[in-house]
Amino acid sequence: MCGIVGYVGNKEVTPVLINGLKKLEYRGYDSAGIAVFGADSKEIVVRKAKGALKFLEEKITKEVIKESQGIHLGIGHTRWATHGEPSDLNAHPHTNESGSIVVVHNGIVENYAKLKSYLQAKGVVFRSQTDTEVIAHLINYFYESTKDIFKAVLETLHRLEGSYALGVLCKDYPDRLIAARKESPLIVGLGNGENLIASDVPAVLEYTRDVYFLNQKEVAVLYTDHVDLFTEDGDKVVREPYHVDWDLSSAEKGGYAHFMLKEIHEQPKALTDTLRPRLVHENGKATDIKFDEFDFGDEWKNAERVVITACGTAYHAGVVGKYAFEKFARIPVEVDVASEFRYRNPILKKNDIFIVISQSGETADTLAALRLAKAAGAKVIAITNCVGSTVSREADEVIYTWAGPEIAVASTKAYTTQLMCLYLLALKMGQIRGELKKDEYEKLLAQIEMIPQKAQEIMENQAEIQKFASQQFNKSKIFYIGRQFDSATSLESALKLKEVSYMHCEAFSAGELKHGPIALVDKDTLVIAIATEPELYEKLASNIVEVKSRGAVTMAITLDKQGAFKESCNTVITLPECEPALASMISVIPAQLFAYYCSVQRGNDPDKPRNLAKSVTVE
Ligand code: GLU
Repeated sequence: MCGIVGYVGNKEVTPVLINGLKKLEYRGYDSAGIAVFGADSKEIVVRKAKGALKFLEEKITKEVIKESQGIHLGIGHTRWATHGEPSDLNAHPHTNESGSIVVVHNGIVENYAKLKSYLQAKGVVFRSQTDTEVIAHLINYFYESTKDIFKAVLETLHRLEGSYALGVLCKDYPDRLIAARKESPLIVGLGNGENLIASDVPAVLEYTRDVYFLNQKEVAVLYTDHVDLFTEDGDKVVREPYHVDWDLSSAEKGGYAHFMLKEIHEQPKALTDTLRPRLVHENGKATDIKFDEFDFGDEWKNAERVVITACGTAYHAGVVGKYAFEKFARIPVEVDVASEFRYRNPILKKNDIFIVISQSGETADTLAALRLAKAAGAKVIAITNCVGSTVSREADEVIYTWAGPEIAVASTKAYTTQLMCLYLLALKMGQIRGELKKDEYEKLLAQIEMIPQKAQEIMENQAEIQKFASQQFNKSKIFYIGRQFDSATSLESALKLKEVSYMHCEAFSAGELKHGPIALVDKDTLVIAIATEPELYEKLASNIVEVKSRGAVTMAITLDKQGAFKESCNTVITLPECEPALASMISVIPAQLFAYYCSVQRGNDPDKPRNLAKSVTVE
């Protein structure tokens, strides 16, 4: 969700755009495109290509783009598809029908379907499958009546729901670039006789270190010699630019030391992006769940079983999913790792709902399981972060985790957004099967709506977790324990620690401790308990006492505020108050931070753990 660059000034614009997009490559993308004013500044030339920037570069030789000789003006984009597969056609920029208004967009237009039908009813013809294209047509629609591009953009912004960073060009205004943002990032770089927009600082550092970080719902109009800032209501904003003194590598990570830490911090936004378009509101209150991608037909109502298959972190999301479906929809669930499932001659029935989960959508074992399930006649739902991936193409239905690209190898925001999708499915299934009554359903929706905010609050505990990691990073054995939902979170917490810190870590259902693992406990052991289910606090506390009395250091990550773990634990991380059955989306965050800080303490590179690959495309 990905990269924007725009330029107005006296340099040849095409190379400036390509260089800028290269500086944003680290953000991940699946296609790219540019739009520049042509030779006589009378037309805007658009070129786009699926895949790496080099394919775009091949399409924009000097013969293709003869630039204007006066003011050089253009916009560029690297896309991470959310609506419509990665393709030349769906790549940005997008235009109105005549090509006179050109737009690049980063984010999701949540109400695009409604806006699209409105415009189609007026005879507008759409060319792409993207949500973004409505923006170009809508600006055009208002431009026809106002004859003022600035006003037309403001009118459009007022009608967009969701997130956007935008760059807009209009053929009738060959001297300016209009930009705006809400939720997606966008900065303005203030150069000498030239000005730029970009999704992130690295793209402008070659030209200037003076920038405006656009605030929520701010609009910027850039000319060669000055930039005007406005609110979305058109009121002028005046403020001093910020002088950037970071180096390029920390700028790429948005000021964070590593992508992993940045992505942990991006979870509140990623959870919002995944959740919000799927909640239906009436009078400001969330009343239902809907997926644009598909209808909940009778197969959801009549299903006899849910089968979930995935690998690694995604498998752990599946284990949480099992508890969620069983709790809210009262349906039996089977979860299996894909590499086992595929060789097990699995028993699949016609009324099974089969869910595969894969961040990349290319995981070889998961794909094999998907094919097996399809061949057996099951309905296959895929949860993935990558639009157009093999899994998304082969499944019957796809639910996207709109987490944006994840660069760090160890998954964090992709995991919590997978959980969000599973919870939404489980809640909706509970409602249509009559297991959740209206009141209860709406109460849970109100609770789930607060999850991103709760995730944000956890970041405030970061220093405490960092300190704990600095004391514990040399332990030889670490156990995560929990019960029910928390046993699933323990699995993921232990995996995170193994992946990035290389510390020996295991997860156990707390009740299993005394059936074997407790034999390992000594003073070199750290035991971390995850405790979000109040009715099990007491049982868990006695498990912790058992290990503490054998010398282990103990920590609890808990919703409890009454001191249930005060006696048994050396450290207690208290989670913000939330519905216990939904807490898995936040209780894993302190564990992610703990894994990250242990990794850093031990001198590892948390972004590129040894022996691991981001997308496991072999068996
Ligand atoms: N939602 C838009 C699309 O799918 C923009 C994606 C992005 O931010 O790159 O085209």
